[in-house]
Amino acid sequence: MKFATKAIHAGVEPDPSTGAVMTPIFQTSTYVQEAPGKHKGFEYARTQNPTRSALEKNLAALENGCDAICFSSGLAAQDAVIKLFASGDEILAVNDLYGGSYRQMVRVWGQWGLKSRFIDMYNPENLEREIGPDTRLIWVETPTNPMLNIVDIAAICDIAKKHGVMVCVDNTFASPYLQNPLDLGADIVLHSATKYIGGHSDVVHGCLIVKDPELAQRIHFIQNASGAIPGPQDCFLVLRGIKTLHLRVQRACENAEAVANFLAAHPKVSKVYWPGFDTHPNHEVAKRQMRMFGAMVSFDLKDNTMENAVRILSGTHLFSLAESLGGVESLIGHPATMTHASIPREERLKVGLTDSLIRLSVGVEDADDLVADLANAL
Ligand SMILES: *Cc1c(COP(=O)(O)O)cnc(C)c1O
Repeated sequence: MKFATKAIHAGVEPDPSTGAVMTPIFQTSTYVQEAPGKHKGFEYARTQNPTRSALEKNLAALENGCDAICFSSGLAAQDAVIKLFASGDEILAVNDLYGGSYRQMVRVWGQWGLKSRFIDMYNPENLEREIGPDTRLIWVETPTNPMLNIVDIAAICDIAKKHGVMVCVDNTFASPYLQNPLDLGADIVLHSATKYIGGHSDVVHGCLIVKDPELAQRIHFIQNASGAIPGPQDCFLVLRGIKTLHLRVQRACENAEAVANFLAAHPKVSKVYWPGFDTHPNHEVAKRQMRMFGAMVSFDLKDNTMENAVRILSGTHLFSLAESLGGVESLIGHPATMTHASIPREERLKVGLTDSLIRLSVGVEDADDLVADLANAL
């Protein structure tokens, strides 16, 4: 099956007891047993829930994995990945990653003796130099947030494999419609389904997808032992969102291209970050590993003061000033004070995340209206 067919059909069967076409929300904590140990595969809802199982089968199909494990948030999914490792182990992560991922690695897992370092992976040879005897996991995010850098997933996985190191790709910004890291050699794909997969800004949810059944079992064990499960209502919302994933992401990418072109030609804009430009340093890699170039666009201002950025951030009407991304509605954000405030300023500046950088999550409205809104604010 191709992508759109999988999005709508994978894992989803009409409910056998009623014929309901949509997967029911199984709002139950436990399941009756005929006799001790004699049950229908469901014992207690931390361990299994039918709404969650349908979603997990669907997600596994979208990322070409063998299994998926759903969590109560993207960061809960990250937490489970890191629990595969132990004190003294090292994670090498891209140096421009989601602020919450950085915070969990450094401030939570750092206390337990897990080491993490944040390195430049835009030149894969750099990873070869940085892998050490304690390195156990490579953490990739591409496109990165908010600088929209592109990491060559296949090249990173080749190097990691040579060293026997596992690779996890946070695929939130691309969505499974644009990019499938397991096909490029990754061991684990992570999504904050809060973003494109859910797609309607009405649920917080996360998932992991893997291609090795043994690794899937280890993660199911960690989840059941730790407990960060999503509720059935949330699983239902994500499953419903997925049915239009391909339509939403395609339109959002087309709109992002129009917005990026408009900004690039604007006299008050100093720089536009979007991997679809052939001047983007890793445009060729993006073309190879992505179906389209994504719907996130960041830009910087010629008058690069915080006050000027704040003026523009407060001046849009269709672009709502809010954290998050990937919903049908367009959002505008200020990484320095919002999503990336937990990263020290000197670390931010090292990667080009200035006080005047503005990030857009372009939605699925009419492109002309989005461009007019930005023109007015600028
Ligand atoms: C939002 C986000 C996360 C965290 O996901 P939550 O669902 O908010 O816990 C992780 N990675 C990226 C790239 C994100 O955008």
